[in-house]
Amino acid sequence: MAASDLLPAEAAELPEGSRHDLRHDLSPGAPAIEGYAGTDGEFGYVHSYETGSRLDGPGIRITLFVSGCPLRCQYCHNPDTWQFKDGTRVSAEQVIGRLGHFAPALRAMQGGLTISGGEVLVQTAFTERILRAAKSMNLHTAIETSGYLESRVTDAYLEQLDLVILDIKSGDPETYQRVTKRDLKPTLRFAERLAALRKPVWVRFTLVPGLTDDPANVDAVAKLVAPMKNVEWVEVLPFHQLGAFKWKALGLEYPLAATAPASPNLVARVIGQFRAAGCNAR
Ligand code: SF4
Repeated sequence: MAASDLLPAEAAELPEGSRHDLRHDLSPGAPAIEGYAGTDGEFGYVHSYETGSRLDGPGIRITLFVSGCPLRCQYCHNPDTWQFKDGTRVSAEQVIGRLGHFAPALRAMQGGLTISGGEVLVQTAFTERILRAAKSMNLHTAIETSGYLESRVTDAYLEQLDLVILDIKSGDPETYQRVTKRDLKPTLRFAERLAALRKPVWVRFTLVPGLTDDPANVDAVAKLVAPMKNVEWVEVLPFHQLGAFKWKALGLEYPLAATAPASPNLVARVIGQFRAAGCNAR
């Protein structure tokens, strides 16, 4: 039975797994994300959750991958998170219950909860409920976001966050548009807002040969970020082809099928550019 066939008060089992698992057509009756205003957050659509992540913030973490994304990054490794219909409809209560089970271990390992996607801010009410619950368990909380939906983020939402992992996909507006099919401005507004609040931020920059590696494009991100004292790290993520199979399985044309992974030399050059601008980069 698909999740969409269930009664509104019911939901499917929260799926453990990996960001690299393919999820497809699990909720065929789910609403479109365009114009999705959200609900009270009692239910939401998720791709999966991982335990034991060392990648998504300090310590050892649970990372919850939620469905829905308005961007269309050429290099997206998880196009199966773009639409709710490919995810699983679960209750916030169930997510919070699972989190509670792991909370003592997460606290002991100086870790916490990270919510990623997809784009977390498509489901602000759902994710805020989960973040609030995590704070009440004394867990460190983080989201990974493009910031594109920053206008949906209230101050109360930001209060639930110890860290924002902000994906700045390009510093040049035209390149940003080419990479994501969306506008760079909301991300810049969000970065400025976080800086004004001194909210801890890790910036992530995905390095794609021939797409985001132009020195001027990298410099534009570096110049933006370097003066922001709240930015603790700039992380350069080398493009890889691990998500290619998902594009194929979903019947999507993958624009980077012929693009080589970022070489160690290229990664070193770009990290060097960030450091030269005054950023802590790795
Ligand atoms: S923001 Fe993330 S999930 Fe959305 S298209 Fe880009 S890489 Fe994929």
